[in-house]
Amino acid sequence: MTEVKRKVQAIEVNYVCDKCKHGMVERCGDTDTKTGFTPHKCMICGHEHTFKWVSYPRIDYIGEDDVL
Ligand SMILES: [Zn+2]
Repeated sequence: MTEVKRKVQAIEVNYVCDKCKHGMVERCGDTDTKTGFTPHKCMICGHEHTFKWVSYPRIDYIGEDDVL
């Protein structure tokens, strides 16, 4: 096999609260290892969100030429 390398950039991925549409959500507990459910809370209004196997904010990497 041949190694292939390319430049990537880090991006921060946030989730905007479904209720107030202003605040960002923040993880407020541990991921359930069976279901993957991860509790989050809006930093402004406190509305609770649950995501499966993802948490916010998080850092992703994309190729420098990739379109967001
Ligand atoms: Zn909110």
